[in-house]
Amino acid sequence: MPAPENIRLLIKARWIIPVVPENRVLENCAIAVHNGKILAIVPQEEADKRFHAEQTINLANHLVTPGLINAHGHAAMSLFRGYADDKPLQDWLHNHIWPAENQWVNEDFVRDGTELAMAEMIRSGTTCFADMYFYPEQTAQAAQQAHMRTQISFPIFDSASPWGQGADDYLAKGLALHDNFRSSELVNVCFGPHAPYTVSDAVLEKIAILAPEMDCTVHIHLHETAFEVEESLKKYAKRPIQRLADFGLLSPLTQCVHMTQVDDGDILLLQNSGAHVIHCPESNLKLASGFCPVQQLLDANINVALGTDGAASNNDLSILSELKTAALLGKAIARDAAALDAHAALRMATINGARALNMEDKIGSLEIGKSADIIAIDLGELESQPLYNPLSQMIYSNSQKVSHVWVEGKALLLSQQLQTLNEREIIGKARWWRQQINQG
Ligand SMILES: [Zn+2]
Repeated sequence: MPAPENIRLLIKARWIIPVVPENRVLENCAIAVHNGKILAIVPQEEADKRFHAEQTINLANHLVTPGLINAHGHAAMSLFRGYADDKPLQDWLHNHIWPAENQWVNEDFVRDGTELAMAEMIRSGTTCFADMYFYPEQTAQAAQQAHMRTQISFPIFDSASPWGQGADDYLAKGLALHDNFRSSELVNVCFGPHAPYTVSDAVLEKIAILAPEMDCTVHIHLHETAFEVEESLKKYAKRPIQRLADFGLLSPLTQCVHMTQVDDGDILLLQNSGAHVIHCPESNLKLASGFCPVQQLLDANINVALGTDGAASNNDLSILSELKTAALLGKAIARDAAALDAHAALRMATINGARALNMEDKIGSLEIGKSADIIAIDLGELESQPLYNPLSQMIYSNSQKVSHVWVEGKALLLSQQLQTLNEREIIGKARWWRQQINQG
């Protein structure tokens, strides 16, 4: 018999859902991790003979899946959680969020808010998040330090903000940031034109040229409300997505966030371009923006990923709870209880997210050679009993706890304890900001 292979980490789990191949549930298997990558997924007895692990984690009551991907958010807005609720989008933005941002957002705010958001995301099973916010260099650094994977889309729009003077300034700063993180394994920097109604034609045209040249993704809020579509029809005599298409801005590198207003022409544009849709059901519900027809998009072979949006419009950053909302809402909109089944929902938050962020070769499934971005959910507690189907408990019962989180094989959460972020300090800073903002 050959000598056992020395490896860094062996994760033994009661259930593993690798996501690829589809709809598969493995029982009593183990994941061997070495150099941050998945080396093998084999039955536990075979793993015991084949590997000698520096560390073995036994997860006897747990479901292990790929790390969840939050494909849209504004992490630092966690510091505005509960600051302004129950307002429609335009009133919420113009009269509450934008004035508060102008007054309070600075480098420290973004750093502290991002850490609060990451701590919450890790505790709910997110290993990778897409972000769009001011001072993106702060978000990028904070993510790198906490060892989270991220896509940072630097924001671009016409008007000035605390972060810069206008579109040219944002582009210059963003491209410098892209250069700084060029060699990072965890941080990907890309274009974040805020929305068609905040970015002029000339700037959209410029991004359409730069993005494919640099092989960079483009992240944009699109068709979030009926108002946005009506205004575009009045001003440009075309729907916003058509305007993007005319600039050559719809491609497999494009992530269209929201898409609550979708007609047959829009579906054709998405299909023909290979652009991705990022669905944010709880934000759309809270701001009464509309409904994204997810099953219809999936049936048309359009890739749909999942995002929480910022904490001010959700108000939590748990992609796990977003999964339940997405699955339930998807059924209601399709008027079909079989629509968006549990496996399809999980795919949205894993492999579809990886595809949308152009990271499919690295993450999104538990496959040999992929990065060891892995989570475990404890299904041993009362709320998960009796247990007929582990995935059903994960998607629909939604009261269970994420116990372990790894990114590149490095532990970010062990037995529900954060490993790369300081919980007490983060709570202290959040309280401090609340005091400042309340007095302001
Ligand atoms: Zn957003």
